[in-house]
Amino acid sequence: MQEARYYEKLSDGSVKCELCPHSCIIKPNTISPCKARKNVDSILYAINYGECVSLAMDTIEKKPLYHFHPGTLILSTAPNSCNFKCPYCQNYGISQGESSTQYVSPEELVQIALRKSSLGIAYTYTEPFTWYEYLIDTAKIARSKGLKNVLVTNGMINEKPLSELLPYIDAANIDLKSMDPEFYKKIVWGDLDTVLNTIKITKRHWHIELTNLIIPGYNDSPELIQSLVDFVASIGVDTPLHFSRYFPHYKFKAPPTPIETLKFAGELARKKLQYVYIGNILLEESSGIGDWSSTYCPECGNLLINRSYLDVSATGITDNRCNKCGRKADFVI
Ligand code: SF4
Repeated sequence: MQEARYYEKLSDGSVKCELCPHSCIIKPNTISPCKARKNVDSILYAINYGECVSLAMDTIEKKPLYHFHPGTLILSTAPNSCNFKCPYCQNYGISQGESSTQYVSPEELVQIALRKSSLGIAYTYTEPFTWYEYLIDTAKIARSKGLKNVLVTNGMINEKPLSELLPYIDAANIDLKSMDPEFYKKIVWGDLDTVLNTIKITKRHWHIELTNLIIPGYNDSPELIQSLVDFVASIGVDTPLHFSRYFPHYKFKAPPTPIETLKFAGELARKKLQYVYIGNILLEESSGIGDWSSTYCPECGNLLINRSYLDVSATGITDNRCNKCGRKADFVI
């Protein structure tokens, strides 16, 4: 077992985890609520180190990352742990349940990615920050072999461990669930300020895109959507924002987000932001909503990248510039 980083021993044999703001006190021989750590004789262990719950080649667009090496495939993996408790989690079987895992060492994972000619490694599906020790060890090796490291994360991590990780990650999609602190506290067991801080810090170091899952009755008011758009604009109007459609999963039974709500959010966001997308729409419903998955030049409106489900074609870019007006395109290629 690998000893965890970022914790403190307490006088009664308990330990305090300092990886994320939950600051869990973990009693001897018990496992943390995120399922990532265990106190054994006053030493905190990362019990999920190298334990992969899933291993698959995905398109980078599936993360979603639309502006980072468009059209490529990336080896995607995950631990069976999470420091949030979203009652609508679409991956609850692996994030909250007891799923079987397979041990893959950091070196082996990098070799698999190289063998598959992957762009890199995406740490995704559950919460990669709860895989911290494995993530940083693997990301260092992957980086040394020319692979990219990509996170899909809830952004819930303390600043100190985040700072140590910054040099090894290339891109991230960060979930911004709501601008309501109570939503974070009461619904998902998270902390809004921490997530906003992670977004602000990582924007300065990585390519980041943001996702907002719109859940009817919880985070879909015009005021909350406007406040989210204002925040995204404040860190950069070039930050891609993905509105995603909620479907009932796990403990939430309410019907899916109305298409009109997504369209309203998209149109509101487009007034301030250059790249706004809507995802998770069923094929049969997509025709009435317009094209919310392709990328258009913010300067002249030229179609830069056409996305139609699995089909991605960069028809409007030459040398990473719009081939109509010459504006530099905001893609990492
Ligand atoms: S990483 Fe897990 S154990 Fe550590 S503070 Fe967060 S939820 Fe608690």
